[in-house]
Amino acid sequence: AMIVRLPKITERIFKAAKKLKVIARHGAGYDGIDLDAAREHNVVVLNAPGANSISVAELTIFYMLYCSRNFKLVQKTYVDDYYFAKMKTKKNELNGKTLGLIGIGNIGSLVAKIAALGFDMKVIAYDPYVKKEELPEYIELVGNREKVFSDSDYVSLHIPANKDTINSIGSKEFKLMKKTAFLINTSRGSVIDEHALYDALVNGEIAGAALDVLREEPISKDNPLLYLDNVLTAPHIGAATREAAARASLYCAMGIDDFF
Ligand code: NAD
Repeated sequence: AMIVRLPKITERIFKAAKKLKVIARHGAGYDGIDLDAAREHNVVVLNAPGANSISVAELTIFYMLYCSRNFKLVQKTYVDDYYFAKMKTKKNELNGKTLGLIGIGNIGSLVAKIAALGFDMKVIAYDPYVKKEELPEYIELVGNREKVFSDSDYVSLHIPANKDTINSIGSKEFKLMKKTAFLINTSRGSVIDEHALYDALVNGEIAGAALDVLREEPISKDNPLLYLDNVLTAPHIGAATREAAARASLYCAMGIDDFF
């Protein structure tokens, strides 16, 4: 058995690892594993869904709060210009605002719960694979994806990266969003068209963004998003807590134990 986190497990590795029977991926999704090659070599691939959900959900709320207080700009300016930072930068509460979720699986559901029950936010969600009856009453499932972009003060992405979702958030979506709205992405960088996002941010089509994940990781120093005052970026730290790592390790070990 093999436990992996980020490395790519390619056809070449399956060919070389003649005794390999099972791979457990330390986290959600099967990123980096060539699933066709696994199938061909009769290797079972497991993951640890849900092990890091609460960590990612907490981080999503952190990013929403960070955006709501314009905190990157406040932090950058307050020593030199105390009153600008305190009085002139735009700041809002989360309370009473609308949170729109794209994807309402493990992480999206937890974000919805904290936002609705903790911050009194209105929560709407778009997810074509979830039924209304499966959701608690504080989440309004909408059939129209555009509504999430047009009606929300915060749009948060919780979808897997696949052929339907890669590059699925671009200029059309940003134009639908309110000028005062923020985009939060803790899912996968590839779902966003980053050039379109940069344009939307610079042209004031949306108020700001918080990106835990980017198309290129580690981030390049040339990425222009790094230098915008209304964009927060981070090195994919959603699952990087001690608790999430411990749970993912345990789930991987349990999965392998079950397999054998
Ligand atoms: P999940 O499988 O529980 O939920 C994903 C949801 O997306 C599902 O309900 C599915 O029906 C929905 N979905 C699929 N295609 C969709 C579409 N086209 N439009 C709308 N909804 C769609 O997964 P999860 O554990 O909640 O993870 C969500 C995302 O977060 C994944 O991309 C995962 O890789 C990512 N993630 C990031 C970190 C991090 O460190 N930032 C950590 C863990 C997971």
